[in-house]
Amino acid sequence: MEQISTGCVIAGGGPAGMMLGFLLARAGVDATVLEKHRDFLRDFRGDTVHPSTLQIMHELGLLEKFLRLPHTRITKGNLEIGERHFTIGDFTRLPTLCKFIALMPQWDFLDFLAGEAKTFPNFHLRMQTRADDLLIENGTVKGVSAMGPDGPLAIRAGLTVAADGRTSTLRERSGLAVHDLGAPFDVLWLRLPVLPGDPADLVGKIKGGQLFVMIHRMDYWQCAYLIPKGGFETIKTAGLAKFRDRLKQIAGFAAGRIDDAITDFDQVKLLTVTVDRLRQWARPGFLCIGDAAHAMSPIGGVGINLAIQDAVATANLLGPVLQKGVPDFADLKRVQARREFPTKVIQSFQVAAQNRILAPTLASTQTPEPPLFLKLLNDWPWLRQFPARFIGMGVRPEHVTLKKK
Ligand SMILES: Cc1cc2nc3c(=O)[nH]c(=O)nc-3n(C[C@H](O)[C@H](O)[C@H](O)COP(=O)(O)OP(=O)(O)OC[C@H]3O[C@@H](n4cnc5c(N)ncnc54)[C@H](O)[C@@H]3O)c2cc1C
Repeated sequence: MEQISTGCVIAGGGPAGMMLGFLLARAGVDATVLEKHRDFLRDFRGDTVHPSTLQIMHELGLLEKFLRLPHTRITKGNLEIGERHFTIGDFTRLPTLCKFIALMPQWDFLDFLAGEAKTFPNFHLRMQTRADDLLIENGTVKGVSAMGPDGPLAIRAGLTVAADGRTSTLRERSGLAVHDLGAPFDVLWLRLPVLPGDPADLVGKIKGGQLFVMIHRMDYWQCAYLIPKGGFETIKTAGLAKFRDRLKQIAGFAAGRIDDAITDFDQVKLLTVTVDRLRQWARPGFLCIGDAAHAMSPIGGVGINLAIQDAVATANLLGPVLQKGVPDFADLKRVQARREFPTKVIQSFQVAAQNRILAPTLASTQTPEPPLFLKLLNDWPWLRQFPARFIGMGVRPEHVTLKKK
């Protein structure tokens, strides 16, 4: 078995793992990221790069180069309830450098981070390498066992980080207890063609018990159709024609494109929504961050940004310790102390939205009456900066303090 030794081993090359690997390597810490897939390709995953993440890219001196990658910009969030239109968020008033959400395929974002990280000699990215278990000695995690393209590996490290997403193998192996907050809905993702003259902003639609979100992606619309939890089999049993009819009722200006665009259920991807968080994010030698510590609902599209914020906080708090040696348990607990509050606030908002708005809407055939706060946002454009600030910047935004070496 191949034996490797590194300062920090990170399982998972998603937004959390790649950003942490980048920041640690930039500060001179030997960092090894394991990614089980051969590439970063993943369709219909979070593709929203929020103002808080763009601010981090600026602090790293990468913003200009990053924004040269193809992307679309969202400056406003819109909601249609029945025939009524509401503008519910305005990013142009945010106190950040970038007053917009950049929509970019997640693989472009991760490829970019990987490319920049590889310029540091102590950054090691091992693709097609799956972390399988923790190496534990006297109750302290000392690294991971993994399966790489050439066979099994043992990777010893002063710190082991689980950034392997919401189905994290390592968090399961660690025995850390998960608090499941529940999610009453799943998401069906599909694509519809874009035509000249289409609006370019984010549109959410609520009508007759249906919820539909359309995200403009330059050459196509990325669409999310929300269904009650576990409801996809029932939809498939009812048949494609009925499904198309349901979509046509809610797709508004794009209804006429459904028949040609959706010809098979294979074009519809189910994403099972989970909202949970660990009660304790660490044990000696081991830390969970990103979705591995707290799986986020897609509401608000904040998962990537929370994952990035966790990575920045982890690098700020543990980077200086890793530069000199091995962090102890008390050091690791400081990450949870820093990041748990923002996570809880955002998850509380997501759970409230899903239980008070999404679930009752999906259970009904009626179009709901718009709540008062939507009417206020519509009538007072100045107020729209607050929801935009909550979603775009989050709570307690992180800044990079770990210095480049
Ligand atoms: C339906 C849906 C829509 C979403 N939409 C958005 C959105 O629009 N915007 C947004 O910001 N967020 C969105 N999210 C959430 C977002 O995708 C996640 O919160 C975010 O990607 C978390 O980043 P992460 O790095 O923690 O984990 P992940 O992105 O899940 O990355 C984990 C990585 O670890 C790898 N991995 C897994 N197991 C192992 C292993 N054992 N060994 C090695 N590698 C492993 C995986 O291949 C993956 O690359 C959405 C989520 C869902 C479910």
